[in-house]
Amino acid sequence: MNVVHVPVLVEEVLEFFKHIEGVFLDCTVGLGGHAEAILSRIPNSVVVGLDVDEEALDLANKRLERFVFAGRAKLFKSSYVDAAKVLKELGFDRVDAILMDLGVSSMQLERAERGFSFNRDGPLDMRMDKQQTLTAYDVVNSWDEENLSRIIFEYGEEKRYARRIARFIVRNRPIHTTKQLVEVLARAIPNKHSRNRHFATKVFQAIRIAVNSELENLKRFLAQVPELLRPGGRIAIVSFHSLEDRIVKEFFRNEPRLKQLTKKPIRPNESEISSNPRARSAKLRVAERV
Ligand code: SAH
Repeated sequence: MNVVHVPVLVEEVLEFFKHIEGVFLDCTVGLGGHAEAILSRIPNSVVVGLDVDEEALDLANKRLERFVFAGRAKLFKSSYVDAAKVLKELGFDRVDAILMDLGVSSMQLERAERGFSFNRDGPLDMRMDKQQTLTAYDVVNSWDEENLSRIIFEYGEEKRYARRIARFIVRNRPIHTTKQLVEVLARAIPNKHSRNRHFATKVFQAIRIAVNSELENLKRFLAQVPELLRPGGRIAIVSFHSLEDRIVKEFFRNEPRLKQLTKKPIRPNESEISSNPRARSAKLRVAERV
């Protein structure tokens, strides 16, 4: 399958990065969309790109082949939480810029067998890192009702029906596939006809966040950012839901070694949203190390 991942807010990110020279840490290199833009448009830049998804890294290595060959792109299978270790091994103490593009890649969504999509029937997997043992199947089939309800409430931001949904899931076990889960949700959720969101969106988001410890990872990485960035260096973060955005916003606001460059988050313009649905909920925040 030929998957194309169109990077989100790429011009806006470049606007903040274009005068920066040196080493860029791309925490979530994915299919290499942002990395390619940085490498081709910022002369002499070097990108250290991380991802936990081997399939993504293979595709990124192909897309960035000419830069890899020239020694300007260095890609590693690693969680961004362990970025400091990877950088140290490369001999870098600090970097000049950091990019995080959170969320799911088009590749992950499109491959039914990865289990991320409520539009495609696949196994309940949702692991970004296939070496991890916890899967969506485990969460759906073995977490107790209390915990399910909590993650649906907190991570899915489903404030009204979290308990009811958790109860339906527990009663309908075992649930093996994304399609079976969607069928259970269809029965559990009373008002399925929201204008712009599929009724399964929130619960899928909640399970994905839980499976991949997404919010913990983000917090653990942010705490290291002041040490990782050289003074004058910049960090740009693209988030896709309000939980992530809130964590980023509060961190930028409360960290004295960072100065926010975006008072309000930057959103994609109309034309980007209409040509790339994945951009719909994206928000960019940028800060500079003082
Ligand atoms: N900017 C990329 C797309 C990134 S999509 C592009 O333009 O192509 C988000 C990526 O983050 C996914 O590939 C996912 O596997 C990766 N990811 C999720 N959690 C991660 C973590 N803890 N460490 C590193 N990568 C992670």
